[in-house]
Amino acid sequence: MCSTMIFLGIFVAVLSQVYTLPLKNTTEPNEGKMRMKRKYSDEIKDWDEMTAMDQILVVNSRLRAPRGITVRDGDIASTFPRSAISCPGNTCLWQKSVDGFVYVPYIMSPLYDDMDRITIETGMQDISAGTCIKFVPRTHEVSFLDIQPRYGCWSFLGQTGGSQTLSLQTPGCMWSGVAAHEFMHALGFVHEQSRSDRDHYVTIVWKNIMPDQIHNFRKQATNNLNSPYDYSSVMHYGRYAFSDDGGPTIIPRPDPYIPIGQRDGPSALDLHKINVLYDCGANE
Ligand SMILES: [Zn+2]
Repeated sequence: MCSTMIFLGIFVAVLSQVYTLPLKNTTEPNEGKMRMKRKYSDEIKDWDEMTAMDQILVVNSRLRAPRGITVRDGDIASTFPRSAISCPGNTCLWQKSVDGFVYVPYIMSPLYDDMDRITIETGMQDISAGTCIKFVPRTHEVSFLDIQPRYGCWSFLGQTGGSQTLSLQTPGCMWSGVAAHEFMHALGFVHEQSRSDRDHYVTIVWKNIMPDQIHNFRKQATNNLNSPYDYSSVMHYGRYAFSDDGGPTIIPRPDPYIPIGQRDGPSALDLHKINVLYDCGANE
Protein backbone atom coordinates (compact mmCIF):
# COMPACT_ATOMS: atom_id res chain seq x y z
CA MET A 1 0.00 0.00 0.00
CA CYS A 2 2.74 2.35 1.03
CA SER A 3 4.85 1.55 -2.06
CA THR A 4 1.76 2.06 -4.21
CA MET A 5 1.27 5.51 -2.66
CA ILE A 6 4.92 6.38 -3.31
CA PHE A 7 4.64 5.14 -6.91
CA LEU A 8 1.43 7.14 -7.38
CA GLY A 9 3.15 10.18 -5.88
CA ILE A 10 6.06 9.87 -8.31
CA PHE A 11 3.62 9.32 -11.19
CA VAL A 12 1.68 12.49 -10.30
CA ALA A 13 4.91 14.43 -9.91
CA VAL A 14 6.17 13.31 -13.32
CA LEU A 15 2.80 14.02 -14.87
CA SER A 16 2.72 17.55 -13.46
CA GLN A 17 6.27 18.09 -14.77
CA VAL A 18 5.17 16.96 -18.20
CA TYR A 19 2.24 19.36 -18.09
CA THR A 20 4.30 22.30 -16.99
CA LEU A 21 6.87 21.80 -19.73
CA PRO A 22 4.70 22.72 -22.73
CA LEU A 23 3.17 25.51 -20.68
CA LYS A 24 6.60 26.90 -20.05
CA ASN A 25 7.40 26.57 -23.71
CA THR A 26 4.31 28.49 -24.78
CA THR A 27 4.85 31.32 -22.33
CA GLU A 28 8.45 31.90 -23.32
CA PRO A 29 7.81 33.20 -26.85
CA ASN A 30 5.01 35.36 -25.48
CA GLU A 31 7.33 36.80 -22.93
CA GLY A 32 9.85 37.32 -25.69
CA LYS A 33 7.27 39.11 -27.80
CA MET A 34 6.25 41.29 -24.90
CA ARG A 35 9.85 42.13 -24.19
CA MET A 36 10.40 42.91 -27.84
CA LYS A 37 7.32 45.12 -27.95
CA ARG A 38 8.39 46.91 -24.82
CA LYS A 39 11.82 47.36 -26.29
CA TYR A 40 10.35 48.73 -29.53
CA SER A 41 8.24 51.20 -27.59
CA ASP A 42 11.22 52.15 -25.48
CA GLU A 43 13.21 52.75 -28.62
CA ILE A 44 10.72 55.23 -30.01
CA LYS A 45 10.75 57.10 -26.70
CA ASP A 46 14.53 57.14 -26.70
CA TRP A 47 15.49 60.56 -28.03
CA ASP A 48 18.79 59.25 -29.41
CA GLU A 49 17.01 56.71 -31.60
CA MET A 50 14.52 59.10 -33.17
CA THR A 51 14.77 59.55 -36.91
CA ALA A 52 14.15 62.84 -38.70
CA MET A 53 10.78 61.48 -39.79
CA ASP A 54 9.86 60.41 -36.23
CA GLN A 55 10.44 63.95 -35.07
CA ILE A 56 8.44 65.35 -38.00
CA LEU A 57 5.51 63.08 -37.14
CA VAL A 58 5.63 64.13 -33.49
CA VAL A 59 5.51 67.80 -34.47
CA ASN A 60 2.87 67.21 -37.17
CA SER A 61 0.66 64.93 -35.07
CA ARG A 62 -1.88 67.70 -34.53
CA LEU A 63 -1.17 69.48 -37.81
CA ARG A 64 -4.07 71.12 -39.53
CA ALA A 65 -3.00 71.93 -43.04
CA PRO A 66 -3.37 75.57 -44.08
CA ARG A 67 -6.40 76.38 -46.21
CA GLY A 68 -6.14 75.01 -49.74
CA ILE A 69 -3.31 72.62 -48.87
CA THR A 70 -3.45 68.94 -48.03
CA VAL A 71 -0.54 67.24 -46.28
CA ARG A 72 0.12 63.68 -47.40
CA ASP A 73 2.46 60.97 -46.18
CA GLY A 74 3.00 62.95 -42.99
CA ASP A 75 4.70 66.05 -44.38
CA ILE A 76 4.32 66.44 -48.17
CA ALA A 77 2.13 69.42 -49.03
CA SER A 78 -0.10 69.37 -52.08
CA THR A 79 -2.67 71.70 -53.53
CA PHE A 80 -4.39 68.77 -55.24
CA PRO A 81 -6.56 66.92 -52.76
CA ARG A 82 -6.52 63.44 -54.29
CA SER A 83 -3.78 63.08 -56.86
CA ALA A 84 -0.74 60.89 -56.29
CA ILE A 85 2.42 62.51 -55.05
CA SER A 86 4.58 62.53 -58.12
CA CYS A 87 6.70 64.61 -60.37
CA PRO A 88 5.85 63.23 -63.81
CA GLY A 89 8.63 63.55 -66.35
CA ASN A 90 10.76 65.39 -63.80
CA THR A 91 8.71 68.54 -64.47
CA CYS A 92 9.13 69.59 -60.82
CA LEU A 93 12.93 69.80 -60.90
CA TRP A 94 14.83 73.01 -60.29
CA GLN A 95 16.63 74.26 -63.33
CA LYS A 96 20.27 73.62 -63.88
CA SER A 97 22.42 76.66 -64.54
CA VAL A 98 25.00 76.83 -67.37
CA ASP A 99 27.78 76.63 -64.76
CA GLY A 100 26.59 73.13 -63.78
CA PHE A 101 25.04 74.14 -60.45
CA VAL A 102 21.39 73.97 -59.56
CA TYR A 103 20.52 77.13 -57.68
CA VAL A 104 17.59 76.92 -55.29
CA PRO A 105 16.71 80.46 -54.19
CA TYR A 106 15.13 80.95 -50.79
CA ILE A 107 13.88 83.58 -48.42
CA MET A 108 13.83 82.92 -44.69
CA SER A 109 11.37 84.35 -42.20
CA PRO A 110 12.75 87.07 -39.88
CA LEU A 111 10.97 85.23 -37.05
CA TYR A 112 13.84 82.74 -36.83
CA ASP A 113 16.62 83.47 -34.35
CA ASP A 114 20.34 82.98 -35.04
CA MET A 115 20.39 79.37 -33.83
CA ASP A 116 17.36 78.50 -36.00
CA ARG A 117 19.05 80.03 -39.04
CA ILE A 118 22.27 78.09 -38.37
CA THR A 119 20.29 74.84 -38.04
CA ILE A 120 18.41 75.44 -41.30
CA GLU A 121 21.57 76.50 -43.14
CA THR A 122 23.35 73.39 -41.87
CA GLY A 123 20.58 71.32 -43.47
CA MET A 124 21.21 73.17 -46.73
CA GLN A 125 24.98 72.77 -46.53
CA ASP A 126 24.74 69.05 -45.81
CA ILE A 127 23.02 68.73 -49.21
CA SER A 128 25.21 71.27 -51.04
CA ALA A 129 28.49 69.81 -49.82
CA GLY A 130 27.95 66.55 -51.70
CA THR A 131 25.94 67.67 -54.73
CA CYS A 132 25.58 70.41 -57.34
CA ILE A 133 22.63 71.94 -55.45
CA LYS A 134 23.27 75.43 -54.10
CA PHE A 135 20.75 77.13 -51.84
CA VAL A 136 21.08 80.87 -52.39
CA PRO A 137 19.26 83.86 -50.90
CA ARG A 138 16.69 85.03 -53.45
CA THR A 139 17.37 88.19 -55.40
CA HIS A 140 14.90 88.36 -58.30
CA GLU A 141 14.11 84.72 -59.15
CA VAL A 142 10.50 83.83 -59.90
CA SER A 143 10.57 80.41 -58.21
CA PHE A 144 11.89 80.17 -54.67
CA LEU A 145 11.42 78.54 -51.26
CA ASP A 146 9.73 80.67 -48.64
CA ILE A 147 11.01 79.11 -45.39
CA GLN A 148 8.67 79.93 -42.54
CA PRO A 149 8.01 78.75 -38.97
CA ARG A 150 4.41 77.77 -39.75
CA TYR A 151 2.72 74.99 -37.81
CA GLY A 152 4.57 71.73 -38.49
CA CYS A 153 7.43 70.54 -40.69
CA TRP A 154 6.36 70.16 -44.32
CA SER A 155 7.26 70.95 -47.91
CA PHE A 156 5.81 70.72 -51.38
CA LEU A 157 7.24 68.09 -53.70
CA GLY A 158 9.77 69.59 -56.10
CA GLN A 159 9.56 73.04 -57.56
CA THR A 160 5.97 74.21 -57.85
CA GLY A 161 6.68 77.50 -59.62
CA GLY A 162 6.57 80.89 -57.92
CA SER A 163 6.81 81.24 -54.17
CA GLN A 164 6.44 77.94 -52.31
CA THR A 165 6.22 77.65 -48.55
CA LEU A 166 8.49 75.22 -46.73
CA SER A 167 7.48 75.12 -43.09
CA LEU A 168 10.00 74.48 -40.33
CA GLN A 169 8.31 75.18 -37.03
CA THR A 170 10.53 76.32 -34.20
CA PRO A 171 11.65 74.66 -32.01
CA GLY A 172 10.01 71.35 -33.10
CA CYS A 173 11.58 71.16 -36.58
CA MET A 174 14.90 72.70 -35.60
CA TRP A 175 17.11 69.74 -36.43
CA SER A 176 19.41 70.04 -39.44
CA GLY A 177 18.35 66.49 -40.45
CA VAL A 178 14.69 67.54 -40.41
CA ALA A 179 15.54 70.62 -42.51
CA ALA A 180 17.50 68.44 -44.98
CA HIS A 181 14.53 66.04 -45.14
CA GLU A 182 12.16 68.85 -46.12
CA PHE A 183 14.69 70.25 -48.61
CA MET A 184 14.89 66.83 -50.25
CA HIS A 185 11.10 66.91 -50.68
CA ALA A 186 11.51 70.34 -52.27
CA LEU A 187 14.12 68.81 -54.61
CA GLY A 188 11.56 66.20 -55.72
CA PHE A 189 12.13 63.17 -53.47
CA VAL A 190 9.39 61.20 -51.73
CA HIS A 191 9.96 58.97 -48.70
CA GLU A 192 12.28 56.03 -49.21
CA GLN A 193 9.71 53.39 -48.22
CA SER A 194 7.28 54.83 -50.81
CA ARG A 195 9.57 53.47 -53.55
CA SER A 196 7.90 51.27 -56.13
CA ASP A 197 10.26 48.39 -55.23
CA ARG A 198 10.00 48.71 -51.44
CA ASP A 199 8.27 45.36 -50.89
CA HIS A 200 11.56 43.60 -51.68
CA TYR A 201 13.24 45.40 -48.78
CA VAL A 202 10.66 46.06 -46.08
CA THR A 203 7.48 44.45 -44.79
CA ILE A 204 4.70 46.89 -44.02
CA VAL A 205 2.89 45.59 -40.93
CA TRP A 206 -0.59 46.80 -41.90
CA LYS A 207 -2.27 45.53 -38.74
CA ASN A 208 -0.07 47.77 -36.58
CA ILE A 209 -0.89 50.97 -38.49
CA MET A 210 -3.54 53.36 -37.19
CA PRO A 211 -6.50 52.60 -39.50
CA ASP A 212 -6.95 56.22 -40.58
CA GLN A 213 -3.24 56.52 -41.46
CA ILE A 214 -2.93 53.55 -43.80
CA HIS A 215 -2.90 55.90 -46.81
CA ASN A 216 0.53 57.13 -45.68
CA PHE A 217 2.04 53.78 -46.70
CA ARG A 218 1.04 53.82 -50.35
CA LYS A 219 3.74 53.02 -52.85
CA GLN A 220 4.52 55.65 -55.49
CA ALA A 221 5.54 55.20 -59.10
CA THR A 222 9.03 56.40 -58.27
CA ASN A 223 12.08 56.78 -60.46
CA ASN A 224 14.55 54.80 -58.39
CA LEU A 225 17.53 56.22 -60.28
CA ASN A 226 19.20 52.79 -60.50
CA SER A 227 20.09 53.26 -56.84
CA PRO A 228 19.91 50.60 -54.15
CA TYR A 229 17.21 50.76 -51.48
CA ASP A 230 18.57 52.89 -48.65
CA TYR A 231 17.56 51.91 -45.12
CA SER A 232 19.67 54.77 -43.75
CA SER A 233 18.07 57.45 -45.93
CA VAL A 234 17.06 60.61 -44.08
CA MET A 235 13.85 60.17 -46.11
CA HIS A 236 12.96 56.83 -44.50
CA TYR A 237 10.05 56.55 -42.07
CA GLY A 238 11.05 55.22 -38.65
CA ARG A 239 10.21 51.67 -37.64
CA TYR A 240 7.12 52.76 -35.68
CA ALA A 241 5.71 55.44 -37.99
CA PHE A 242 1.93 55.79 -37.55
CA SER A 243 1.90 52.85 -35.12
CA ASP A 244 -1.43 52.09 -33.51
CA ASP A 245 -0.31 50.05 -30.51
CA GLY A 246 3.42 50.71 -30.25
CA GLY A 247 4.31 47.76 -32.49
CA PRO A 248 6.52 48.25 -35.54
CA THR A 249 4.88 49.28 -38.80
CA ILE A 250 7.95 48.74 -40.99
CA ILE A 251 10.28 45.75 -40.66
CA PRO A 252 13.33 45.41 -42.91
CA ARG A 253 13.64 42.14 -44.80
CA PRO A 254 15.17 39.68 -44.80
CA ASP A 255 17.10 40.96 -41.75
CA PRO A 256 14.57 42.64 -39.41
CA TYR A 257 17.30 44.19 -37.30
CA ILE A 258 18.79 46.48 -39.95
CA PRO A 259 18.51 50.00 -38.49
CA ILE A 260 16.16 52.19 -40.53
CA GLY A 261 16.08 55.95 -40.84
CA GLN A 262 18.24 58.45 -38.99
CA ARG A 263 18.26 62.13 -38.17
CA ASP A 264 21.81 63.24 -38.87
CA GLY A 265 21.26 64.40 -42.43
CA PRO A 266 21.37 63.08 -45.99
CA SER A 267 23.03 59.67 -46.30
CA ALA A 268 25.73 58.97 -48.89
CA LEU A 269 23.04 57.34 -51.04
CA ASP A 270 20.69 60.32 -50.59
CA LEU A 271 23.43 62.57 -51.96
CA HIS A 272 24.14 60.07 -54.75
CA LYS A 273 20.48 60.12 -55.76
CA ILE A 274 20.40 63.93 -55.83
CA ASN A 275 23.49 63.83 -58.06
CA VAL A 276 21.82 61.35 -60.43
CA LEU A 277 18.45 63.13 -60.51
CA TYR A 278 20.06 66.50 -61.23
CA ASP A 279 22.76 65.07 -63.48
CA CYS A 280 25.37 66.74 -61.28
CA GLY A 281 28.37 65.03 -62.81
CA ALA A 282 27.52 66.11 -66.37
CA ASN A 283 29.75 69.18 -66.41
CA GLU A 284 32.73 67.60 -64.68
ZN1 LIG B 1 8.81 63.75 -45.38
